[in-house]
Amino acid sequence: MSAPRVVVIGAGFGGLALAIRLQSAGARTVLLEGRERPGGRAYVYEDQGFTFDAGPTVVTAPNTIEELYALSGRSLGDYVELLPVDPFYRLTWPDGFQLEYNEDSEQVCRQIAAKNPRDAEGYRRFLGYSEDVFREGYEKLGHVPFQDFSSMLRALPQLIRLRSWRSVYSVVSDYLEDPQLRQAFSFQSLLIGGNPFHVSSIYALIHALERKWGVHFPRGGTGALVRGMARLFTDLGGELHLASPVDRIETRNGRVSGVITAGGRHFPATAVASNADVVHTYRHLLRDSDRGPAAARRLMRQRFSMSLFVVYFGLKRQHPQLAHHTVLFGPRYRELLADIFDRGVLADDFSLYLHAPGRSDPSLAPPGCDTFYALTPVPNLARGQIDWSSAGPKLRDRILAAVEERCIPGLREDLVTSRIFTPDDFAGELNAHLGSAFSLEPLLTQSAWFRVHNRDDRLGGLYFVGAGTHPGAGIPGVVGSAKATASLMVSDLDLARQ
Ligand SMILES: Cc1cc2nc3c(=O)[nH]c(=O)nc-3n(C[C@H](O)[C@H](O)[C@H](O)COP(=O)(O)OP(=O)(O)OC[C@H]3O[C@@H](n4cnc5c(N)ncnc54)[C@H](O)[C@@H]3O)c2cc1C
Repeated sequence: MSAPRVVVIGAGFGGLALAIRLQSAGARTVLLEGRERPGGRAYVYEDQGFTFDAGPTVVTAPNTIEELYALSGRSLGDYVELLPVDPFYRLTWPDGFQLEYNEDSEQVCRQIAAKNPRDAEGYRRFLGYSEDVFREGYEKLGHVPFQDFSSMLRALPQLIRLRSWRSVYSVVSDYLEDPQLRQAFSFQSLLIGGNPFHVSSIYALIHALERKWGVHFPRGGTGALVRGMARLFTDLGGELHLASPVDRIETRNGRVSGVITAGGRHFPATAVASNADVVHTYRHLLRDSDRGPAAARRLMRQRFSMSLFVVYFGLKRQHPQLAHHTVLFGPRYRELLADIFDRGVLADDFSLYLHAPGRSDPSLAPPGCDTFYALTPVPNLARGQIDWSSAGPKLRDRILAAVEERCIPGLREDLVTSRIFTPDDFAGELNAHLGSAFSLEPLLTQSAWFRVHNRDDRLGGLYFVGAGTHPGAGIPGVVGSAKATASLMVSDLDLARQ
């Protein structure tokens, strides 16, 4: 009997990881990507010798990626080199306060004690909490599917013990008094699309996860990691088709039977896994099925994460004084987040994340030059009250002026090139519902069993992988979702166990 043929739609980190797992397990796997490069949120732009990673830059839990290579006896190191980043982040505030952190808790405690002596002990206790949720929430549950409610009930005692109904910010506030330190150890949930004031305290695990395996950056940029995964997939014999947007998933007798691309190419398949946006999949790709429109309507009633506004820029001067990752907190925190997540308002102030990859790998810019991006969380398109065609260029100018004032003197004079990415681009380029940067908001009521299931409950042979499924957004999340989805597909399709 020949191996079953499976189609994976979308070559984001989740789609690539799933395609590698399926191909390694013996399925004939076809990976169809709509854009002309793989990576999804981790796309790459090149301009005048500058290389811009479009999205993820903080690479954590590299072991989850190494595992994909080990499945076929290969090694990640033969494809891409991961460079350790130290400090993990430099956090800065308008009043001049600054905190740098890495895995050395004594060094972090010294900085905390200098700011507020009582918080040094609080930080140690917070670390204990973060490690506890990391073990329960990530190590035990981060890569197993939640297909039925009983799996949720089994996790319930731990969720109660860990106070998971409370927000990250409120739990952090049990341990730390100082308002800036509370920001320093709660903002991390924004990296996966969650407002620290709403998101479950389970996401305090991010701090422990960063410390456990460190923060890394691939030599050649995140794009090199994506290219390495795409190459692994094709080395294994997988079929990768770029510039091949899928237009429709075909169904027959309550099962998927294949896909048709916008160019009219037909790929019959025993199973189809979508790494594309979950609403796009049900609403557009399954528009002709009984299942699609109803599932899309139900999903669209849920809350989607915020969007992001990103300015990529290249300068004709290097800035060795910067850290690789800098967060520039603005004057407001809780109220700014309420503007973004609840009120849908584009505020006059902002907080920024500044990416300076030249600190780890100068080859991403021409000699003597430096590559950057600055991003800020902004409302998604739910309320539709921001006209990004006019607001975008203005926000870019305000961001560049703020970065110049706070950490890159002479920025605008040294500018060689710049480009922006707005919520409209998340919607238009990535088919992201409401232009959300991280799919469904990671609320407790939208997590685990409450999130889109890794295998559809009704339509046979339909699977999901990526940020909209369990466990959620971020590279470790979507690579974990690929493991959860692959475990179901391997069993359903009777493939070699992994
Ligand atoms: C600016 C930014 C910065 C980030 N920083 C970090 C970070 O530092 N660290 C971290 O861990 N995470 C970070 N994240 C989050 C992380 O990038 C994402 O959660 C993750 O990459 C999403 O992966 P995914 O598998 O869900 O797929 P996506 O990246 O969403 O890819 C889905 C793919 O499907 C394709 N597709 C859509 N529709 C179709 C169709 N009809 N046919 C064919 N293909 C289709 C798309 O083109 C896309 O390539 C960041 C995100 C953004 C936006």
